[in-house]
Amino acid sequence: MMHTIDEIKSGFGKKGVQLVAVSKTKPVQEIMRVYRQGQRIFGENRAQELERKAQQLPEDIEWHMIGHLQRNKVKHIIPHTAMIHSVDSIRLAREVNKLARQAGRSIPCLLQIRIAREESKYGFDFQPLKEWLDSGEWKDLDNIIFAGVMGMASFVSDMDVVRREFRLLKTCFDKLKSSVFADAPAFREVSMGMSGDYLIAIEEGSTMVRIGTLIFGERSSY
Ligand SMILES: *Cc1c(COP(=O)(O)O)cnc(C)c1O
Repeated sequence: MMHTIDEIKSGFGKKGVQLVAVSKTKPVQEIMRVYRQGQRIFGENRAQELERKAQQLPEDIEWHMIGHLQRNKVKHIIPHTAMIHSVDSIRLAREVNKLARQAGRSIPCLLQIRIAREESKYGFDFQPLKEWLDSGEWKDLDNIIFAGVMGMASFVSDMDVVRREFRLLKTCFDKLKSSVFADAPAFREVSMGMSGDYLIAIEEGSTMVRIGTLIFGERSSY
């Protein structure tokens, strides 16, 4: 069952939650169908797919990189991306900063934090992340705008587990917001929630939900 953008947004029950329409694997015609419903923020999880689609589709689309990003692929998205949700290592942050500087850009980035117990491979653990941030190096990464955090809950049907993980991410955000980023108004986004759990994510303080299946239908792969 596919839903229109208005149907999904009217279910948010709260103002100020942004919708990222996750268009990975979907062809440009499908993206244009959703674009014509007024949607302008689209999310992709592969660098070259984002690059190709950005080159083919209208310029007023904001392309968000939401998937794991290898350092050697950063160059493909630098000219096109409006936000990277998936900064999951110090080395990746340094590389994004370096290429953004070469391109004369400042790129809003979210720090991906591992909140799911097992299955997730990517994301910072909170303690080492906090230690790195406390070192202050991030302040020298002038071409990154530290804009908040992102996380993915466990892929389980037990919504109590999912809710607990979202609550954990919000707690991580609050801790960073009140310490390291106390003087950084741009640090304000909590990207959490997908097709199966976005209503819980919003209840737990999400400011950006990333929804694919509900908008585009099932994907055949990844
Ligand atoms: C695919 C994907 C989504 C969207 O998943 P759906 O269940 O189709 O809504 C959200 N976030 C990330 C990081 C993804 O890779």
